[in-house]
Amino acid sequence: MASKKLTAEKLQYFEELIRKELQESMQYIENINKEQSVGARESSGDLSSYAYHQADQGSDTNYMEHTVMMMESEREKIRLLNDAMRRIQDGTFGNCEMCGELIPDTRLQIIPYATLCIECKEKMETKKRKQRR
Ligand SMILES: [Zn+2]
Repeated sequence: MASKKLTAEKLQYFEELIRKELQESMQYIENINKEQSVGARESSGDLSSYAYHQADQGSDTNYMEHTVMMMESEREKIRLLNDAMRRIQDGTFGNCEMCGELIPDTRLQIIPYATLCIECKEKMETKKRKQRR
């Protein structure tokens, strides 16, 4: 099982890819944080803007909920990307956690933090579906 490994070049390529995605995700969260602190400053004190915000509150709440959801999924992605980075360091990156086979490059290019090959992922999903019934 241990004989199947990604080449050093490929590992380097995916390390770059993961680092880039990590940066993008962190930038995204940073932007939202900035946006929210600006919004909080604008709505403090000024009564006319308060009234405006009151009228618009419904959609504001939806927007906030949406933003919180996006941030949650982005944070989860960061966690998964950090895990993938750790697997690159300890040399287990690219191997399926269930069968130990190499995960195809094409899959890793789309989801660099994937831990299962397509076959095992499908098996897992079928199992989950069955459990739900
Ligand atoms: Zn597998």
